[in-house]
Amino acid sequence: MPDKEYLKNLRIPTKEDPLRILVSACLLGVKCGVNGDNYGEYLSVLKLLNYENIKFFQFCPEDFAFGTPREMCDIYGGNGLDVLEGKARVLTTSGIDWSEKMIAASKKMLQIAQDNDIELAIMMDVSAACGNHVIYDGNRYAENKKYQIGMGVCGAQLHKAGFNIISWREYESLEILYSKIDPDHQIDASAKDFDQDEWFQKYFTK
Ligand code: SF4
Repeated sequence: MPDKEYLKNLRIPTKEDPLRILVSACLLGVKCGVNGDNYGEYLSVLKLLNYENIKFFQFCPEDFAFGTPREMCDIYGGNGLDVLEGKARVLTTSGIDWSEKMIAASKKMLQIAQDNDIELAIMMDVSAACGNHVIYDGNRYAENKKYQIGMGVCGAQLHKAGFNIISWREYESLEILYSKIDPDHQIDASAKDFDQDEWFQKYFTK
């Protein structure tokens, strides 16, 4: 869940000293999705490419660990934190256990974050790797598929190390970020984070 106070206290970045952001590579259009695509256009993130006072560090943990194209995977028996603690597993749709390699990929992502002194991560959410807020609870292709509040393995790894994460759909938080990088940006007070989304409210309060 985004820490809006942290975002409000972010420094004002400059071209000479840009804000260092780690990002799920597919959000920038890299074709690293399971089928070799980029899952669509994420304009809330892509617009940040217009600013010289941001430096992106892009990474796809699943491409790093399993290559592209690859099978879809989900977390069974818990969330990303549980996988890191050995209490849950990452399985592909055909049942192959990817837990160990996913943990290795999350360590690589953490290393990138630490080596580059990342100030924020923007992630895909829902992914077993890059989830930061809501992920599937088991097989996403099951007839009775379920969601859970929780992080993917890489999200959890970064969170554990103290990094702040938002996703492309935390619109209220992104508004704060936009105002930090663009002094002319007028904050849209109607923008909402995902936990205020109608679907989220309905699904998790039923
Ligand atoms: S692992 Fe992350 S960066 Fe790679 S395709 Fe999935 S969501 Fe995007």
